Parts: sequence; structure tokens; C-alpha cells
Amino acid sequence: MPEKVVIIGSGPAGWTAAIYAARANLQPLVLEGAITAENQVKGTLPLGQLALTTEVENYPGLPEGDSRAYLRTALPQERQPYWVQSNKPQPSKGINGPEMMELMRQQAINFGTRIVTDDIVRVDLQRHPFQLFSLEGQVTETLAVIIATGARANYLGLPSEDRFKNNGVSACAVCDGALPRFRNQALVVIGGGDSAVEESTYLSKFASMVHLVHRRDQLRASKIMQQRALTNPKITPKWNRVLLEVLGNDTDGVTGVRLGSTVDKQTEEIACRGVFLAIGHTPNTDFLKGQVELDEAGYVRWTKPQRTYTSVEGVFAAGDVADSYYRQAITAAGTGCMAALDAERWLAGRGWL
Ligand code: NAP
Repeated sequence: MPEKVVIIGSGPAGWTAAIYAARANLQPLVLEGAITAENQVKGTLPLGQLALTTEVENYPGLPEGDSRAYLRTALPQERQPYWVQSNKPQPSKGINGPEMMELMRQQAINFGTRIVTDDIVRVDLQRHPFQLFSLEGQVTETLAVIIATGARANYLGLPSEDRFKNNGVSACAVCDGALPRFRNQALVVIGGGDSAVEESTYLSKFASMVHLVHRRDQLRASKIMQQRALTNPKITPKWNRVLLEVLGNDTDGVTGVRLGSTVDKQTEEIACRGVFLAIGHTPNTDFLKGQVELDEAGYVRWTKPQRTYTSVEGVFAAGDVADSYYRQAITAAGTGCMAALDAERWLAGRGWL
């Protein structure tokens, strides 16, 4: 028997779709992603990008407060954050990204969602029921699919950047910033959006100083986050600069960067022990190529206004995988809800419910 609906991905879009699909008695199956070294490096582990962030201040309904008692009662012990399990002080004033994702996952489980910790690496959407092929070799047949695989952080593609990945170069300050190698050291963050600003602020807690390197003379980050970073004495903006080369050696890893200018021909070297890229994202759609229509940047194309329909009937998309514009947890959750409702109505319309 094929599944009624399979949800691929485990960020806010995936879990919201699962909660709605489960409450509609669709018995959804979520492929939450595999825990592999490759996914760790790419930033595509289960629970998505929010699992790589700190405080979430802009998700409605979760103002600052002590969340310990709530996390303790809402989550099974083994999935509670380390600071709850070990009775350490709460690291943030409110809810953290990873905690929020655990709560969403648990809410989906509470309504009967089944979860498989595996990646989908290939799909056949030309036949029906659709076939989904997993990294571990499982084949799942399903009547409807919700794609919610999100997006991942970009790298510049410099050979020197590649050479020092995991040896001082990272695209996730929150995952790697607290490592001993970066403590009390000068660090560099590349980018000018919310991620760059957020990561600079986060790193300033551990680093001796943070150079925020941006290719223009103004940030695109939200005003409140800009202000926080630009008034932080440990953060020095380096305007109109681009990263030309990561400097270092095999023993020490990163020892510095060579920067170029976007306004003249000057270059400069800065000593640092870490380089954090925060320059935007790429959608996780490699497994969909040739199967469903993607836009020029590789995002799944929604084919009907106000709907989560894709170019294949019975295949729906939600969250950052189809949204290069808003890219917020709340919009991802919203479209996850829409995708579940769209899938339910589509299945019902064919008499499959
Ligand atoms: P983003 O807003 O697309 O910003 C990417 C930054 O990287 C831009 O400043 C861009 O420069 C720069 N950049 C891109 N390619 C580059 C290259 N090749 N070389 C040098 N610089 C390059 O991406 P993001 O900061 O990851 O944010 C993505 C979305 O997530 C946004 O909607 C953001 O609001 C949201 N977000 C929210 C929060 C929060 O609210 N807490 C935190 C993180 C992210 P230009 O400015 O010149 O284009």
C-alpha cells in the first residue's frame, strides 16, 4: 500500500505540514534527513537551518522567558537540550532555534506522524504512485508528496576556502563558533545580511574581535540587528571588501585572510583564526532535477498563486525550498500548513481519502 502523503524535510515547513496532515488523519511519513558527515558539512542535517541558530525572537507566541519547565514537560528526556538535561543556566532569554524545532517535531509525533531519519536522494514523479529513493536504499511509494527540504548556506568557491573547511572555515557560526580553536581569537565574518550580523554578534561572545567583511558600504540586515552589531565594541565592520584568499597552513589551520577592495585596487591582510561565511543560500533540490519545475536559482516553482502546487500534480512544496524571498520560520510554517491542506484536498478530490 502506498503512503497517502510523504513529507520530505524537517524544518518548520515540514513539521507544520506533518501536524496538519496528521490531524487530518493522513498518517504522514516524514523523511527528516540523514545524520551524515556530508550533511554536517553542508548544513543539511535533520531539523534544518533553525537548528543552526540561537535565539528566535521573531516567531510570534514565543516571547522571552524561562522555558525550562516547558521543555522538560514537552520533550522526552533524551531530546531535551543539554542545559535542561544537565540543569545548567538557560543560554538565551527565550526559545532557541534547535529547541523550537524539537518542539515542532514532538508536536507532529503527538498526532501520529511517523519519522524516518534518512535522506531522499532520487525521486520518480513521472509515475503514480510516486517513488522516493532513500540514501539507505529504501523505496517509498506515495500518493502525494510535500517537498520541504529548505535551503543551505553558500560558500564563495575559493580553493583556499575549500582547503580550510573544518579547519577554520565554516558556514555556521552557531555550530562551530564555540570551539576552543576560536576562543579569544580574531575572527572574520563575510556577508551583510541578517545571518552575517547575527553570526558576528554570536561570535563576539567568544572571540577577541570580529571583522565583519561586506562588499558594500551598508548592511542589508534588519535595522535592529544592525544596530546591535554596529554598537558592539568587539565587531569592526570592513566595508567595501571581498575575501580573496584564506591564509593558513595544515598545522594551524586558518591564520588570516587577504581582502580585496570593491572601490580601488588595494588589498590587505588580517590575522584571524576563523572565517565564517554568511552569504546566502542554495535550495536543497538536487534530488528533484528533471522531475519538477525549478526556477533559475534552483528553487521549486509554485505554479498557482496562493497555492503550494508544483508542476507535478500531487506534489506540493513548502518553505524555503520554494521561497527565495521571505525565508522566515513563520512563512515556512505557514506554507507548510498550506501544503498539507492542498494535499488533503487534492487526495480527497480523487477519492483517495
Ligand atoms: P541574505 O539576506 O541573502 O544576505 C546575503 C549577504 O551576503 C548579502 O549582504 C550579500 O551582499 C552577501 N553576499 C552574497 N553573495 C556574496 C558573495 N559572493 N560575496 C560577498 N558577499 C556576498 O542572506 P541571509 O543573511 O542568510 O538571510 C537570508 C534570510 O534569512 C533573510 O530573509 C533574513 O532576513 C533571514 N534571517 C533572519 C534572521 C533573524 O531574523 N534572526 C537571521 C538570519 C537570517 P549584498 O548585500 O551586497 O547583496
